[in-house]
Amino acid sequence: MGAPMNLAPTGNPEAAKPAMPVRVPIKHCRNCGIAVVYRLPDDGDTRERGVCPACDTIHYENPANVVGTIPMLGERVLLCKRNIEPRWGKWTLPAGFMELGESLSQGAARETDEEAGAQIEMGDLFSVISVVRVGQVHMFYTARLLSDQFKPGHETIEARLFREDEIPWDEIAFRTVRETLRLYFDDRRARTLGRVHAFDLN
Ligand SMILES: [Zn+2]
Repeated sequence: MGAPMNLAPTGNPEAAKPAMPVRVPIKHCRNCGIAVVYRLPDDGDTRERGVCPACDTIHYENPANVVGTIPMLGERVLLCKRNIEPRWGKWTLPAGFMELGESLSQGAARETDEEAGAQIEMGDLFSVISVVRVGQVHMFYTARLLSDQFKPGHETIEARLFREDEIPWDEIAFRTVRETLRLYFDDRRARTLGRVHAFDLN
């Protein structure tokens, strides 16, 4: 995950506080650089926005999409040990912020390549999780690994395969990753893979 991640933390004692502050409000106009003022815009909008007093640009701030994969090789899943904050040294599925100009599945494939250097065949959408508190939606695709050779990028200390009973559940970086892994292995055991899990985490 490239940019600072505002992901929800896992269920450890720090879970009560956000992993990172919720996104910092816009301070300056993207168009002209003047300090914005937070107020109701004049167009009937019912939310306060950062409005530029000089050029009237209204700055809309909306949730960000985080996309990733569940890369499987047989019964084992590929996890990445994070080399970046937050959650340095914790394990995650390869995932990160979607970029402009790419689709969800393209973003998921790109993050898998960047973080793990893993060759995959993309599968189906598996989970869609709204993390309301931090203004993010996390989406994970199933994926089939084409090789057990990985070339982790600079954001990853180590990329390795885990059987379900080897997964370091207490060392998973983010709740959305832990929930996705849990649901995936549950479905796999029950032979109900193929459905999409959509839910909210606060
Ligand atoms: Zn302006």
